[in-house]
Amino acid sequence: MYQFFAPGGVLSRMHPTYEFRRGQLQMAQAVEQALEEKRHLIVEAGTGTGKTLAYLMPVIRSRKRVIISTGTKNLQEQLFYKDVPFLEQALYGGGEKQVSRSARNDKEIAGRLSVCYMKGRNNYLCRKKLYDLTDRPVLSGLEQIEQYRAIAAWEKTTGTGDRAELAELPEASLLWHKLDARADACIGQKCSEWERCFITEMRRKAMESDIIIVNHHLFFADLAIKLLAEGAPDAGILPEAAAVIFDEAHELEDVAGNYFGISVSNLRLEELARDVENSLQHNKMMSASLSGALGSLRERSQFFFSLLPPGEGRFAFDTRREFLEENGDEFVALNQALTRVAGELEGLPQKPKEIFNFVRRAQEIQVQLGFAMESKDRNTVFWIERRGGGGGSRGANKGAETSGRGRQNVFLQATPIDVGPILRECLWSKLECAVLTSATLAVGGGFEYIRQRLGLEHARESVLPSHFDYESQALLYMPPDLPDPRTAQFTAKAAERIRRLLEITRGRAFVLFTSYAQMNDIYQRLLGEVEFPILRQGDAPKSALLEEFRLTPNAVLFATSSFWQGVDVQGEQLSCVIIDRLPFAVPSDPVVAARVKAIDAGGGNAFFQYQVPAAVITLKQGFGRLIRSLHDRGLLVLLDNRILKKQYGRVFIESLPNYKKTTEMRVVEEFFDVGS
Ligand code: SF4
Repeated sequence: MYQFFAPGGVLSRMHPTYEFRRGQLQMAQAVEQALEEKRHLIVEAGTGTGKTLAYLMPVIRSRKRVIISTGTKNLQEQLFYKDVPFLEQALYGGGEKQVSRSARNDKEIAGRLSVCYMKGRNNYLCRKKLYDLTDRPVLSGLEQIEQYRAIAAWEKTTGTGDRAELAELPEASLLWHKLDARADACIGQKCSEWERCFITEMRRKAMESDIIIVNHHLFFADLAIKLLAEGAPDAGILPEAAAVIFDEAHELEDVAGNYFGISVSNLRLEELARDVENSLQHNKMMSASLSGALGSLRERSQFFFSLLPPGEGRFAFDTRREFLEENGDEFVALNQALTRVAGELEGLPQKPKEIFNFVRRAQEIQVQLGFAMESKDRNTVFWIERRGGGGGSRGANKGAETSGRGRQNVFLQATPIDVGPILRECLWSKLECAVLTSATLAVGGGFEYIRQRLGLEHARESVLPSHFDYESQALLYMPPDLPDPRTAQFTAKAAERIRRLLEITRGRAFVLFTSYAQMNDIYQRLLGEVEFPILRQGDAPKSALLEEFRLTPNAVLFATSSFWQGVDVQGEQLSCVIIDRLPFAVPSDPVVAARVKAIDAGGGNAFFQYQVPAAVITLKQGFGRLIRSLHDRGLLVLLDNRILKKQYGRVFIESLPNYKKTTEMRVVEEFFDVGS
């Protein structure tokens, strides 16, 4: 390992600009040791450590099958298209063949490493759905007809079925949603297309691969399916692996919580009714009694969901008992409607294979509805989410819940309060070795928080030294004179301070907010007051906004949570990151509130054990946007001076990299060589 990473070693000979990074070597050695000794490892490696090579090298040397799970698609692509080919070149020499993007996840083509890159099932085409639609096209509008033609032509030539090959297909295509290979509608081995199915092919490739690159959503969706199926041989698509590397591991609690939870919505029921109806009509099996059963299911579902307590967004459903006392008949009626549909379908003579899938879906909804309404599980928070169509929950049933744009949909949710015990039992205790890494895992220099939240008790730990010289590269300005951000006076004063800071930095800034309301308020106040172009989240898709920011001199970008992480703008174009307030999770959010309550009830202190550490990690992520390379230099601003005035502020300060810090505007001006 030393010969590879050391000064004058293989890496530096291959890459003339490669600089030795002590942290990278330390991480590679720690990962190698964890793999050898079959131990778990938590390692924080800041931006610039080169952590992907630091875990890929020992993974390759281990000759074990390893799954690498990332938080973002960008990182998956970096691993597959950049880091792995680079290591192949370094280890085995020889040029990489020029191959199409579609064929690159083929084992033979990927060189001497057998590596595959898997996305979530809804990225792949379901051949069966496409053929069914071809027999009886139900398309709405010219746009869908054109999309259908493009998909049908592409299906004949694609080797992967990955929609990324269809650049012209809009991101939000409703037709694709009807054709994707998500598990909900899949009939597995009973399918006539099973052998030619892109998912079967992906599973095969994974079986032959030593390194499997996935994202956290796919990993946990797969784990949840396997748990439900109690280890049935064809459940899930990921094969057994000796180890799992979780990169961007700070996201694990949220993702795991979603997939081990339950989500039942009016939309899911409507989709079931629609799919059954389409299939029966297609197979000429519709009868008066089935039609009546489906009509009743739709009616009962609509009525039941309309009775749920009013409210917008996410809110707790802690009146389930009272609700059932009042509306128990409607709950029973909806259950009966599901039973009736399942019964009628089961009674059909010579039924096509997909009918069995519909019966399973109806029964699954019934079980989940029962849990969401009646369970007394103390480790689950029950809540409701009401939102317009198209918002899609990040849960196991996501695919089923993202259509129906423009309507209000109601989701009955049940989320584990503490995923730790679940992960301990079904993940950590089963894996030989898990490596959790991210640039932001430690709080106050330790991993107590992440270990607690994820139930990972026995793990080696390491916080690696940064490769960046933060003290000279970044200045953190914390204005002591602004009002408390919880007061009404804050917004006007904050807007004025942002205006002045943007003058000094000549724009080139991200202004990151903790809420849309605050973002829009300050945006309105500064429109026309700032001489630089201001871009705002929501005015264009995220990737388009980022591209515009990169290409527009002196641009300023106003954004909220989705730009706090996974965004990479190197160079002077981004010279300043301003954050409006300490990013505490909204305490009224039902999941946050339940976690707080559970920790306090268990004798802990939720504020210090959960709320502060979670906010520390988010703040580190947000500030992490600024310094992306050794040559970056810039200003960080936190307008919330509770970091200076409150006792807990120290935890934030001690957890941040050692930026140069100031409370004086004069120092900011000097940093940018600007006179006041
Ligand atoms: S096996 Fe499932 S995903 Fe594959 S074609 Fe058949 S129904 Fe579609």
